Amino acid sequence: MIYPWLEPEWKALLAQRTRLHHALLIHGPAGIGKSAFATELARSLLCESPLRDGAACGRCSACGWFAQDNHPDLRRLAPSAAEEGTDAGAGVTEEPVRRPGSKGAGRPSRDIRIDQIRALERFIEVSGHRGATRIVLVDPADALNPAAANALLKTLEEPGRGAHFVLVTDRPDTLPATIRSRCRALALPRPAADVGAAWLAADTGADLAQAQAWLAAAGDAPLRARRFADPAQAAIHRLLVETVAGLPETGIVQAADALADIAPAIWMTTLQTWVVDLQRTCAGAQPRYFPDRADRLGVLARQAGLVALDRLAVRLDRAARTIDHPLNPRLMLEDVLLDVRHALAARAS
Ligand SMILES: [Zn+2]
Repeated sequence: MIYPWLEPEWKALLAQRTRLHHALLIHGPAGIGKSAFATELARSLLCESPLRDGAACGRCSACGWFAQDNHPDLRRLAPSAAEEGTDAGAGVTEEPVRRPGSKGAGRPSRDIRIDQIRALERFIEVSGHRGATRIVLVDPADALNPAAANALLKTLEEPGRGAHFVLVTDRPDTLPATIRSRCRALALPRPAADVGAAWLAADTGADLAQAQAWLAAAGDAPLRARRFADPAQAAIHRLLVETVAGLPETGIVQAADALADIAPAIWMTTLQTWVVDLQRTCAGAQPRYFPDRADRLGVLARQAGLVALDRLAVRLDRAARTIDHPLNPRLMLEDVLLDVRHALAARAS
């Protein structure tokens, strides 16, 4: 499906459906519907009698196989850990759109490995079962390990006729420049706040004010915000915000215990949005993500000062880039919490 805020990009892409670049790199913030967008593109390219605007018909045999995740000319590449549901961050999931693709051999991996790329070679070289079109969806593309990225590069350089690659990522800057340079980049946006809130309210049955609060706390990413409609996830979210707002007084070990079962990408987003609000407060603006905590933000912002907050934002940004592949998740969590406590403690000067 195409989420309503992505319609303009979808229409523009369909208009060039017959002359698409053979490798597309779809990127944008987490939780806005990139995976669903890429899947819909694959469906439309494989459809045997597309509608006049280029969208999939939903009725032909190709659309039928696609619906059963069984189209012979489609390959999905994802880390085997994500495919088998053994992802370490399974407590709170991101976009629940990951579907099984080719099975990796051996231990579940958080990387897309070279054997998965090698397994594509014949698929790419030999023309498709139904027509020339074959599609490889790589999602998330930032999970390609270096050897796999190298192997994919060769394929991107000499694609067989009719072969399409669709790479999806929240973090295009972590892909090798050689991969990026061979792809046509397509940036997908977050929705405008009112569009996102209206969709979220309709989707979850929550009232508009509640939807706005969820959306703000999720950094305007509707698919991240949607999980707050689940009472268990809402409880996790409350704990997360309480813990973050409790720093620096809360002890590091106590805070780390509270956050330990929450996926790193989730607590990191909350920390980052909290620091954005501290920076805004410090600069005299209204908080954007946690307006109901303006008093607490005011106290902490005065205490920390803009210099320390800016420095903290940079450190969090750096840590967020490797958040899915920490060598030791607990250690990384404690390191980040130490940074936060250090920045928010009263200024020496
Ligand atoms: Zn069709």
